[in-house]
Amino acid sequence: MTDENRKFWDSIDNIQQAFVDIEKEYADMVEWCEPDMKLAVTKWAMKHIVDHAREGGSYRYLIYDRMGFGPEAYAPLCADGLTISNEFDLDVVPDARKALAEGDHEKLKKILSCCDEPGCYEQISSGFPTDNGYRQCCGTHYRMYSIKHQERKNGIQSGD
Ligand SMILES: [Zn+2]
Repeated sequence: MTDENRKFWDSIDNIQQAFVDIEKEYADMVEWCEPDMKLAVTKWAMKHIVDHAREGGSYRYLIYDRMGFGPEAYAPLCADGLTISNEFDLDVVPDARKALAEGDHEKLKKILSCCDEPGCYEQISSGFPTDNGYRQCCGTHYRMYSIKHQERKNGIQSGD
């Protein structure tokens, strides 16, 4: 391993340790918090989270505009905040029920963020333009598309 590589991996280790340390520090702060304060902060956070689920917006919009934090909040709130921002949509269940009642399988797949490949029900992880329109695929089908696209670009015929 070169010195440059070692510095890189040491930096990654330090960042991971900083996340572990801050998780512990925040958990301790919550334990020491007076019950009334804990209740008030939880009520405040829940209100903003539900407002976000109703009205939508990015993770940054949630933490900066709705909750009023600055850039210092980005990393500590990132994991759960991205889940809230990307996954918490109050319209999903009613929309899914409607698509199910209509027997619209493709609409239901779209509402549930399933890969657009026929027969695949994995979570969409990539969206990308193609010659035939915009696709949204799971990691596996994105990689398969990328390999075929690269082969076509290089003039190699695939076996299918
Ligand atoms: Zn897929």
